[in-house]
Amino acid sequence: MDIFSELESSAQCYANAFPVVFTRGRGSWLYDDAGNAYLDFLAGAGSLNYGHNHPVLKQALLDYIAADGVAHGLDLHTTAKARFMAAFRDLVLAPRGLEYRLQFTGPTGANAVEAALKLARKVKGRSSVIAFTNGFHGVTLGALAATGNRHHRGGSGVPLANVTRMPYAGYLGRDADTLRILDRLLGDPSSGIDLPAAMIVETVQGEGGLNSASTAWLQGLAQLCRKRDILLIVDDIQAGCGRTGTFFSFEPAGIQPDMVTLSKSLSGYGLPMALLLYRPQLDVWKPGEHNGTFRGNNHAFVTAAAALEHFWADDALAANVRARSEQLREGLQRLSERFGVARVRIKGRGLMQGIECADGATADRISRAAFQRGLIIETSGNRGQVLKCLCPLTISTGELRDGLGRLAASLEQELGGRTAQAS
Ligand code: PLP
Repeated sequence: MDIFSELESSAQCYANAFPVVFTRGRGSWLYDDAGNAYLDFLAGAGSLNYGHNHPVLKQALLDYIAADGVAHGLDLHTTAKARFMAAFRDLVLAPRGLEYRLQFTGPTGANAVEAALKLARKVKGRSSVIAFTNGFHGVTLGALAATGNRHHRGGSGVPLANVTRMPYAGYLGRDADTLRILDRLLGDPSSGIDLPAAMIVETVQGEGGLNSASTAWLQGLAQLCRKRDILLIVDDIQAGCGRTGTFFSFEPAGIQPDMVTLSKSLSGYGLPMALLLYRPQLDVWKPGEHNGTFRGNNHAFVTAAAALEHFWADDALAANVRARSEQLREGLQRLSERFGVARVRIKGRGLMQGIECADGATADRISRAAFQRGLIIETSGNRGQVLKCLCPLTISTGELRDGLGRLAASLEQELGGRTAQAS
């Protein structure tokens, strides 16, 4: 029996789908202890937007460690933190005309979501928050209450309270106006829906199956929140840091959320780090009122600053995301034409696209077949039926073509039909 089977909790899940022992990662590739190479379309569930061990980020970290730079800093001021904050101001906020306070929360996405929900409730003096169908915001109790997935909610052990669920964009079909329904319910004093402190939303639902809200829907939601004095929280933990082609996923909609959560690829190197952004007027915390020991991962600050300076000072990365997104779309389109839209339906946007299969079992089989071909690709969605291509944003044309070819061969194996041409 291996050490994992002997000791590790049954809570593990990715390891069940990809049961090898990994040793190394570089760029878009992972390697196992038998020397096999895998194209990584999982990318740390969206935590490795710049790939594995990017040399520029690695060097910055090695230099910092070699100089005995502070590793753990609570919320003490350090040079590493100052450099990250300056880079974030100059390369992210200022060019986009955004003015936000930065709150470093505990290092996971759920930590940032908890802080956002708590702050919204404190500012507005209301307990309720609106979250959307298929939303995923983490599995700590406050965040889990906002998460839709029954499988995850089932693990809570206590009632998940103070969140009202509303239909996400497109949830009720193309013809239903979900924003009108929402506005009507909030405007009717007898609808039974209490005025919430905030709404929390993903622009593209990462775990929920790559459901994507239109620009018009996001603008309408922002307008509705303003009209009814509700704070708008965009959870950009998975869709942010360039995944959809812009640093923040909400940029094409031209909206300015009251709060934004970031984590996953923020450090750029897979190191734990999370950040809550909010309008300065919302900064009502008393010192230490919301704290945590691991809010000062300085190694993460170092790689996060290096990532911003290297990738966000010009348009090269964003241009690659646009080009590769187009390539991905075309490849998936060919698969959809080949196997039929009922079996391969394209979902998502940017480098957050994938295919919806008939059911979760089919998607699982395709994921397993892909793994046999050296492609790591996970499933998502309310029934696990959506295969998610979450490759690093730095992926090359050739690597993406290679990955699409492996995916096509896996579909061919599981769905049949003539040999697919996805490249
Ligand atoms: N929010 C979104 C949109 C996510 O995709 C995730 C994780 O997948 C989270 C929050 C929770 O992040 P973490 O798993 O780091 O707690």
